Order: sequence, then structure tokens, then C-alpha cells
Amino acid sequence: MLKNDLLDQWDRENFFHPSTHLAQHARGESASRVIKTASGVHIEDRDGNKLLDAFAGLYCVNVGYGRQKIAEAIADQAKELAYYHSYVGHGTEASITLSKMILDRAPANMSKVYFGLGGSDANETNVKLIWYYNNILGRPEKKKFISRWRGYHGSGLITGSLTGLELFHKKFDLPLANIIHTEAPYYFRRTDEDMSEAQFSAHLAAELEELIEREGADTIAAFIGEPVLGTGGIVPPPVGYWEAIQSVLKKHDILLVADEVVTGFGRLGTMFGSDHYGIEADIITIAKGLTSAYAPLSGSIISDKVWKVLEQGTDENGPIGHGWTYSAHPIGAAAGVANLKLIDELNLVDNAGTVGAYLNKAMKDTLGEHTNVGDIRGEGMLCAVEFVEDKEKREFFDASIKIGPQVAAALLSEGVIGRAMPQGDILGFAPPFCLTKSEADEVVAKTAKAVKAVLG
Ligand code: PMP
Repeated sequence: MLKNDLLDQWDRENFFHPSTHLAQHARGESASRVIKTASGVHIEDRDGNKLLDAFAGLYCVNVGYGRQKIAEAIADQAKELAYYHSYVGHGTEASITLSKMILDRAPANMSKVYFGLGGSDANETNVKLIWYYNNILGRPEKKKFISRWRGYHGSGLITGSLTGLELFHKKFDLPLANIIHTEAPYYFRRTDEDMSEAQFSAHLAAELEELIEREGADTIAAFIGEPVLGTGGIVPPPVGYWEAIQSVLKKHDILLVADEVVTGFGRLGTMFGSDHYGIEADIITIAKGLTSAYAPLSGSIISDKVWKVLEQGTDENGPIGHGWTYSAHPIGAAAGVANLKLIDELNLVDNAGTVGAYLNKAMKDTLGEHTNVGDIRGEGMLCAVEFVEDKEKREFFDASIKIGPQVAAALLSEGVIGRAMPQGDILGFAPPFCLTKSEADEVVAKTAKAVKAVLG
């Protein structure tokens, strides 16, 4: 067993951590957090500190930690067949079974699943497939993508461009050409105080339509959005939003990609966010909850409409020139099969709905009146608390004070992990679906303590 300080040294000297302040970490100014084991909703670090993980890793360990059935499925698969590729018609029992299980659960108009490794590469696949689709249809100009400010779709070149957060663009020369952003469906941050939610949705749809007309509908291939904005602040859409947006997209023959990396497989209390909001997507992105992060796996669920054109494309041009070595990796697929079975066996989608609603209500009851809590919002097992300097005037704190990170740090010292969302003073929660009501009470009570410690 390595001594802690040696491990810390190796960490500082060798490990390039994602989404980390590199210089501070290398100088040893931020702690090395070494996680050792986990079970249920709790993780434990190397010093034996036990923490309630109310963000399920990065909203991905949906069934909770330490599930032996998934671990065994992975081990069995590794022993029997650790790898074979899925090019030119190859597959494994696990990958074929999983594609069937996904389509059995997906909205009705869906046809096939393409597998990747993570959410970013799945969205990269989606962009490529939609470009291919429009080329096959003889519309080479129809290539632009519209995403929302505060949307999160990955951190690759094109997916980082789709992401609508400044941190992911700044100094990376992003966004790339052909990616356009439209206003976020963020009712709490609307500029016109007097708008109802429904009016705000109509306003967003009108803005979108203006943008489309300005750019030319014949240049716009697709719109991508998360059913509930995730990393951008955990923001459920205003009433009528998806209906209004879809009607504009249909009118201008623009495809819709529903990025369900966070919402897929139950987080909103329904199997997909698309079911929840009546979204009829042409492609659905899935990742995280597909395996509950027991192994890396993602997917693009392709609708009949898109699939037919892709088939036509290969009849005209030969095999599709798109594939990853690890597409449909058998270990990931085995994890996915075991994970989806477990979700059914334990009725975890319903639990996400009922305990999630309980958590959201308890958070509102406990913190709703606090002078610096401007908004508490959520859906299913997603919840966010947004802090403001002046509640009446809806004025935000100066970002440099870092109220969100301060509250998250105070909460961590109470033994609960919430996430300071990257843009705004927003404390986010996305617990595993197996959270109990008493654990939800603990999350709320400790959040209230943390808020009091920072804001009084
Ligand atoms: N889409 C959404 C909605 C996400 O939340 C994320 C990750 N947080 C991604 C895509 C990218 O996934 P990954 O980090 O696995 O590439």
C-alpha cells in the first residue's frame, strides 16, 4: 500500500486531471481526493471518510455503487470474451441483446442503436450521421447545428462547440463554424419579469424561428438539446417549451437530437426524458445511465426516418465510413445488460420519480424562504438550489465570490457531495435512484446547515 504523501506526489507530478485548475493542483494547493471504495449511495476515501454522493459521480452511477450483479456480469464477459470488434457485421451476445433492450425501452419511432464510449463521442457520431444524411438527400448546404446557451453536449471539437458554456470555448478557439447557439430555456433568468412560463416558451420558439430565418432553413441541419438542461444549471424547461420548439423545427424540416445522456434510463422518473416531455427526436444520445458508469458505453438511438436514409447512403456509397475500435465493447455491453435488468428488478425508475419528488419538495420546504435562495427547481432525481444576492430584484452574486463552490465545500464538510454547477451560483443534486427518503432528508438537512454556514 502506497503512503498517502507518495501517492499525492505522484498525482501532482503525473496525472493530468480533467476539468481541474491545473496550476493550483500541481502546486498542491487543492487536495488530492483519492476515492477507495463505495456502496449504495456512499463513497469512501482513502482516509476512511464516508460521504453521501448526492451527485452519483457525474450523474451517472444511477443504480448506486457496489452492485455485485453488474460486477459479475463484467467479470464473466471479460473471462469469456474480453473483446471483439463490431465492424462488418460482427457482434457479441451482449451487444446484440443490449441493442434490443434499449429499443424495447426507447420511444416508438426508433430503429437502431450505434454504440460509442461516452456522451461526447456519441454526439460526434450524431453530427456526422446528420451531415451524411443531408448529403445523401442532396442537401449539402444543410449542415448547421443549433444548440442552446448553457447546453452541455461534450468537450470534443464539435461537441465542445455545441456545449453552450463559456469555459468550454474560451482559449480553445471554439465554437467551430456551423454551430449556432440560441437562448437557454431558463425561466428563472428570463429578462422580462412579467412573462409567464408559457409566454417565455413562446418567446424562445419565436427567437428560434427568427434565427432560422436569418440563417436560412436550408442551411440548418439539426437542433440539439437536453430535455432538462443539466451541467448548464439543472433547469427543467418552462411549460410548453418542447411543444413550441418542435413545431418550429418541423415547419423548417430541421432534425431534433435529444441529448439524454443525463435523463436517459430513468432520471426523470420516466425511462426517457423524451417520454416525459413529449419529445419526438430523430436521434437520442445515451451514455451515463446506460451502464450506470460501471463501464464506459454510450449510444446514438437512430429513428426510422434517419435510418432509412443511412441505408440508402450505403447502397449508393458502400459501407459507412464511421466506426470506433471500441464501438459496442463487450464488457460495456455486458454491464449495460446487467444494469438495465437491475433497474427493472428494483423498480428504480419509479423510485427516481417518487424519492426525487420528495427530495425536491423537502428542499423547497426547508430552504425556499431563505433570503439568498432565489430558486429551487428540479424534476425526478434532479434538484438545484440557486443563490442570489437580492431575492426581490433577482440580483446575482459577483461570480468571483464563488458562493456556489463555498456552499458545496461546506456541504462536503458535512459529509454530502453536491455539485457547484460551472456557471452561476447553483448547487446541484443528482443522486443515485436508490436514494431513500431518509437519505433525502439527510441531504436536505445538511444542505440547510451548509447554506447557513456560508450565508447565515
Ligand atoms: N451530453 C450531456 C447531456 C452530458 O451531461 C454529458 C456529460 N456530462 C455529455 C453529453 C458528454 O459525455 P461524456 O463526458 O461522457 O463525453
